[in-house]
Amino acid sequence: MSEYDVVVIGAGNGGLTAACRLAQKGVKTLLLERHNIPGGCATSFCRGRFEFEVALHQLSGLGSKDKPGPLRFVLDKLGVTDRLEWVAMENLYRLLVPGQLDIILPADREALIATLQERFPAEKDNITAFFDLVYKICFEFFGVNRDPQASPETYPTYFKYALTNSQEILDQYFTDPLLKMTVAIYWGYMGVPPSKLPFMDLAILLFAYIELKPYHLKGGSQALSTAILEKFYEAGGEARFNCGVSKILVENGCVTGVVTEYGETINTKYIVSNASTLSVYTELIDPEHVPEEQLKILGGSTVGPSSLTIFAGLDCEPEEVGITETTNFLGTTTDMDKVFSSFRKVAVEDDYILLSCYDVSDPDFSPPGTCQAVIVNLKYGDPWLEIPPHQYYEKKYEVADKLLDLVEQHFPGFREHIEEIEVATPLTHMRYLATPGGAIYGFDQFAKDSNIFISPRSPIKGLYFVGAWAGAGGFQPTLSSGVAAARQVIKAMQSETEVKS
Ligand SMILES: Cc1cc2nc3c(=O)[nH]c(=O)nc-3n(C[C@H](O)[C@H](O)[C@H](O)COP(=O)(O)OP(=O)(O)OC[C@H]3O[C@@H](n4cnc5c(N)ncnc54)[C@H](O)[C@@H]3O)c2cc1C
Repeated sequence: MSEYDVVVIGAGNGGLTAACRLAQKGVKTLLLERHNIPGGCATSFCRGRFEFEVALHQLSGLGSKDKPGPLRFVLDKLGVTDRLEWVAMENLYRLLVPGQLDIILPADREALIATLQERFPAEKDNITAFFDLVYKICFEFFGVNRDPQASPETYPTYFKYALTNSQEILDQYFTDPLLKMTVAIYWGYMGVPPSKLPFMDLAILLFAYIELKPYHLKGGSQALSTAILEKFYEAGGEARFNCGVSKILVENGCVTGVVTEYGETINTKYIVSNASTLSVYTELIDPEHVPEEQLKILGGSTVGPSSLTIFAGLDCEPEEVGITETTNFLGTTTDMDKVFSSFRKVAVEDDYILLSCYDVSDPDFSPPGTCQAVIVNLKYGDPWLEIPPHQYYEKKYEVADKLLDLVEQHFPGFREHIEEIEVATPLTHMRYLATPGGAIYGFDQFAKDSNIFISPRSPIKGLYFVGAWAGAGGFQPTLSSGVAAARQVIKAMQSETEVKS
C-alpha cells in the first residue's frame, strides 16, 4: 500500500496548481486524474489539421511584466510564466446585435469611455460616472482584502454596492438597453445575468480586463496545463493519468486515504479535491462520514451552466469571412433575463453567443491560410439529460445548425469555409470533466454562492477543495485557488508537527 503526504484528485487548473506548489515546497504529492491528459477544461484536442482550444477565451488577471496582475504572481511562483508566450488582446470585444449595434470596445479606460460616448451621446456623463464607480469599488475591494479593520466608514462604496445586483446599478446609470447590454456583456463569463450578478463581480471583470488586458497564449490553455505539470514533475511530484478516484476514505472525521478506480488504496492524511464538492460528498465519501450540515449547505446551491460549443476550423483567413476581432459577442435581444432563461432550453431562442477567433491576435494559432472559431452558447445540463439517447445526435446537430445560422448573419460565408467541425454539448462536458450537469463554472455564481461566503475547507479534517466548486469558476480564480489551498495544507501540516514535538 503506497503512502503520500498529499493526494490531489483531478488535474484541472485548481488541482494542477495545488499539486505543483505542494511538490515545490517539498511535500510528497500524488496527482490522480481520470482523463488521459492534464487540464480539465484547460485543454485542447485535434481534428484534421486543427488543434482546437477547449475553454480559454480571455485570460483575466495576468497583466504585463511592467504592470503585473495577481495571476502573474501566481504563475511566477510556480515558475511557468516565462516558459509560455503570452498574447495580449488590444480590444475587449466586438458586440453585434442585428440591425441595432456593432461596437468594438478597446481595453483602455479612456478609449473605451470615448467609444461608448460616441455611440451613446445622450448618456455621456453617466458613462464616465459609471466607470468611476467601477474603479472606485475595485480599489476599495483591494483595500478591504488587506485591511482587517475594514468598515463601512472606511470603504463606503464597497459596503454599499458590492452585493447589489448589477442590473440595479445599470438601471440607475443608463436608460438605453443597448448601452446596458454593452457594458455588462461579460456577465456570460460568470453565467449569471446582471439581475442576479453581484455588482462587485461585474466591476472586477471590467476592471481586470480593461486595466490588465485580456490574454491568450501560444499553444492555448493546453500549453499552460502542460507547463504546470512539467514543473510538478521537476519538483519530484508523481502523477497518474487514466486513474480516477472512486472513494475517499474517512475515519473519525479525518481523511485516511483514497481508493482508485482500479481498487488500489493509497494512504494519506491530506486530500486536495479538484473534483466537485457535490461528487465528493454524495459519491466518493461513504454517507455515514458526511456531516449533515455539509449536505444542507450543498442543498442551498444550484449547479451552474455548461455549454454547447462549436469548434470550427475554417479554410480561410478570418478577414475573408469578416472576423476582425478575437472576441465577438453576437446578441439577439437586449433582455438579458430572457437570454438567461434560454440557458434552460435545448433549442436556440433568445440566446447570445461568444465567438472567439484566436488567429486574429495570434496569426500562427492555426495552420497558414486557415483559422479556427470557437462558438460558445451557455446551456444548463438538465434539459440535455432528458433527451432520449436515440435523439441525441439529431438534436445536437439541429441546435448547432441554428447557431451557425446566427453566425452566418454576421459573418457571411462562414459555413462554406468550414473544413472541420466538432460540437460539444453539456453531456460532452459531463463526460470529459465529470462535473454535475457538465457545469463549467461550478455552482451558479449567485451572490450567496460567491467566494466571499464559500469556504474551500471541509469539516472533514485533511480535506480541501480547489477549482470552480470551491469558489468561483474561470481561469484566474481556479488557478489561484490551488496555490491558496497548498498554503493552507502546508500550514496545517506544520501545526500538526508542532503539536507532536
Ligand atoms: C467551453 C468553455 C469555455 C470557457 N471559457 C472561459 C474563459 O474564457 N475564461 C475563463 O476564465 N474561463 C472559461 N471557462 C471556464 C474555466 O475553463 C473553468 O471554470 C476552469 O478551467 C475550471 O477549473 P477547475 O480547477 O475547476 O477544474 P476542471 O477543469 O473542472 O477539472 C477538474 C478535473 O478533475 C478531474 N476529476 C474529476 N473527478 C475526478 C475523480 N474522481 N478522480 C480523478 N480525477 C477527477 C476531471 O477529469 C478534470 O480533469 C470555460 C470553460 C469551458 C468548458
